[in-house]
Amino acid sequence: MVAKVPMPEYDSLEVVNTVIAERKKFLDFYRSITGDLRAQILSYIENEGNPTNITALNLRRYTNSDEETVIRKKSLINLYSPKPEQTPFRHLEEMRSEHGLLFCPSCGEDGAPGTLDHYLPKTEFPELAVCIANLTPMCSTCQGKKSSDYLTDDGRKAFLHPYYDEISVSLFHVDIWPPFDKPSAFNVTVKGTISGGLKLLVESHIEGIDFKNRFEKYCASKHLHLLKLMAEEREDEEPMRAAQLIRRFLRQENKKAINAWGSIYYESVLSTPALLDYLDNGNLPAFI
Ligand SMILES: [Zn+2]
Repeated sequence: MVAKVPMPEYDSLEVVNTVIAERKKFLDFYRSITGDLRAQILSYIENEGNPTNITALNLRRYTNSDEETVIRKKSLINLYSPKPEQTPFRHLEEMRSEHGLLFCPSCGEDGAPGTLDHYLPKTEFPELAVCIANLTPMCSTCQGKKSSDYLTDDGRKAFLHPYYDEISVSLFHVDIWPPFDKPSAFNVTVKGTISGGLKLLVESHIEGIDFKNRFEKYCASKHLHLLKLMAEEREDEEPMRAAQLIRRFLRQENKKAINAWGSIYYESVLSTPALLDYLDNGNLPAFI
């Protein structure tokens, strides 16, 4: 997660209460699980979704057979696919399309994220399928990569939580290696200034969404774009220096988020003096 985003204003407990009150089937099941389900949501909020502190409810405790457990689990998961007249249809629609974000809070790529991710997956925690605090905006690429993962191999929380984890610093740096007319490589790393616990979490997060591979491809096309812009700038009567121009681009990207893809790229260009010198004085490629 590259940016903390505000939690929707809906009360997670209130929404679940309404959802359960609307049930017409499996009433005995819902009656018996309601107390524990409410407690689970409060526990989620208190523990900020951290899976090392939250144990999934054992649904077998509320049913009479294994077969019934499978069916009730499906019923809980299906609460996330309400009909238009049911709760939380409207809530989910608003959370998908009215968040006002210009980038994905999970990876930082440009574009309004159109899907919601279950931070703790509904297949493992079906009782949290419609817990508002567990539903975060995400781009479809991140969602496909994250899938139902939530723990690292050694049992730690694997992903940053967009509603709870505060990220106020720039996390990444890209090494850009010459030749600059067609860089031989971009290598993104977590900055050395990021401390132990956060560094481990950021590293498992970005691995889980295939960030490195995706972002380095973006750098390649962004770089080509920058070479073209510099070629045009040199045609200007009073051309700006590369550093000045790029600081302007960086300010614009930082308005989205400090770890938006453009921010990472431009900040890295600004801290690569040999590249700035090339942009001002080098021979830009002829294909531009
Ligand atoms: Zn994403």
